[in-house]
Amino acid sequence: MKHPVYMDHNATTAVLPAVQKAVARALELTGNASSVHGAGRAARKVIEDARDRVAALVGAKSADVVFTSGGTEANNLAIRGLQQDLGQARVLASAVEHTSVLKAASNIETIAVDSEGVVDLEALDTMLAGASSTNGAGPALVSVMLANNETGVIQPVAGVAAVAKRHGALVHCDAVQAAGKISIDIAALGVHMMSLSAHKIGGPAGVGALVLAGDLAHGANLFPIVLGGGQERGRRAGSENLTGIAGFGVAAEEALKDLPEFPNLAVWRNRLEDELGRRQGVHVFGAGAPRLANTSCLTMPGVVAERQIIAFDLAGIELSAGAACSSGKVEPSHVLAAMGVAVDEADTAIRVSLGWTTADQDIDAFLAAWVDIFERTKAAAKEVEAA
Ligand code: PLP
Repeated sequence: MKHPVYMDHNATTAVLPAVQKAVARALELTGNASSVHGAGRAARKVIEDARDRVAALVGAKSADVVFTSGGTEANNLAIRGLQQDLGQARVLASAVEHTSVLKAASNIETIAVDSEGVVDLEALDTMLAGASSTNGAGPALVSVMLANNETGVIQPVAGVAAVAKRHGALVHCDAVQAAGKISIDIAALGVHMMSLSAHKIGGPAGVGALVLAGDLAHGANLFPIVLGGGQERGRRAGSENLTGIAGFGVAAEEALKDLPEFPNLAVWRNRLEDELGRRQGVHVFGAGAPRLANTSCLTMPGVVAERQIIAFDLAGIELSAGAACSSGKVEPSHVLAAMGVAVDEADTAIRVSLGWTTADQDIDAFLAAWVDIFERTKAAAKEVEAA
């Protein structure tokens, strides 16, 4: 068995070899992309090539890609940048959004999801038709992710956009987890802004993009939240992260090329779920909804996630409990809570996320470790009971 077995690709996926090479090449460049001399122009070319590739991943125009420091900043730019223009506009976000959306504005109104974690379009319609609970000048902004980081559940974003359009609302879509995993066409989805992050698609961490479309394509309504120079057409100040952007571009190109293969990961994901799902009390969250092929959020009855993660780590298997991508500490999952999962059960849920380094024997290793941890915990509990 290869050690360690990495099953946390939704947190960060391994950097692709082609990306490593591109980053190393970019490190050899000296110029600032804003400089007009040859060195500056060489740096500029790397950035613009990457912009083309990132745009192609989601069917956008290159000029509409704004590079940021990652998905978190892209989400903040979408919401805060637009709010500045619209003056405390209403912001409606699904209850299962990433915290970088939910914390981006103080007046977020959450849209309910069903027990599979799918956003309730009727609830959205009603909310948009109704009076705002907050001060609502100008069009509202609706933010719904394309795929959830904890469960992999895919949201009906085109449906969200259709409802929003009826009410004259703008739509932002956090596609950080969906990119490279499902095919994305920003125009077909009908959204106005879309967030991406390089380290979820085999690129380096610390670089991402907000992709604009439609009315926002020329930055008319988007205020920068990082102020200073005129980089990124005035939408995001600061000398560009040349190496990160170079890597992001190659990662986007590779992700687009490898997209047809991604659904194959479901074979392993399903094997794992079929094997464990037969056991009494094991629940796979979101299994009744369309999901990413690589993600499984499942319980180990009676064993809290924190304990599981440590035990798996000791067994050489690296994975996360729910939304651990920001803190490393295990906090109650707001995603599972929104799906109506009781706290006690949610506390026993871990996230397995597969990726391009996953191999058949990883699934065997995970299953063996799972059974071992479960049986040992049960035996220990019995001993305590008997004592
Ligand atoms: N949005 C989603 C759905 C995510 O899963 C993450 C990270 O896990 C982010 C946003 C934040 O992206 P970044 O880590 O690039 O800031």
